[in-house]
Amino acid sequence: MPSDAHCHPFDLAHKKADAETARLALNLSVAASSWNEEEFIYHEALAKQAAKSGGPPIALCFGVHPQLPLSEPEAVQSSLQALYRFAAGEKLAAVGEIGFDLFDEAYKTTETVQERLFKEQIGLARQYNLPVVLHVRKAMDKIFTYLRELKALPAVVFHSYSGTYEEALALCKRGVKAYFSFGSPIMLNHRKAMRACALLPQEVLLFETDAPYQCPRGKPFSEYGDLWEVVKWAAHLRREAGTMAHTEQELHAANDENFCRVYFHTSV
Ligand SMILES: [Zn+2]
Repeated sequence: MPSDAHCHPFDLAHKKADAETARLALNLSVAASSWNEEEFIYHEALAKQAAKSGGPPIALCFGVHPQLPLSEPEAVQSSLQALYRFAAGEKLAAVGEIGFDLFDEAYKTTETVQERLFKEQIGLARQYNLPVVLHVRKAMDKIFTYLRELKALPAVVFHSYSGTYEEALALCKRGVKAYFSFGSPIMLNHRKAMRACALLPQEVLLFETDAPYQCPRGKPFSEYGDLWEVVKWAAHLRREAGTMAHTEQELHAANDENFCRVYFHTSV
């Protein structure tokens, strides 16, 4: 079953009312990220419906997004409280997206808060033995200061990975059960992501749409069907680099296998 390692069904439904119908038609499992209760409740209802009808499953992810302290500081505390509740209720497949966004000066003003939230949330993931989904922009050096904590987690997914190939390898070598998820940036000339996607072993690869937030060129937003285009590009990059697992079929298979292992603790 094809899988989307990171997306936002609630936000996508506001751009495209029939998104869920499209997902069912594609038979696509997804990891659905949310940071507030309203989104989570919507995702949970979709997940229950899918379970009832035998449709493609939804992995429920929740975390205080690292952009939140800047975009909606007043919402941070309630988001954190909701995370504690959902984790305690055993509703989560993963904690995330969490991490660091130090992309520009504005985000950097909240670095101290981001750091506090990150520490607290990886602590919570450890307590409940949950994987984490990371959003990391201009902050790979920070990640390397948390190796001990990250190594203790069952899996660490770098959503829309933007670090280097060498940094990815270093994380794996140091014992982090890391996965690197790639989306439309590999089609948009993001050199570091393209190279990492071309060279990393298939055992650590994931693919995502981040729907609706990672627009392919010429589109107003990303949607589930874009996953196939992403995998096609990844196959092309790997073929050019002469890397193992370079057909679309092999990459879909690796993605599905890794997706099931990370979010559902099963194999395909
Ligand atoms: Zn996202």
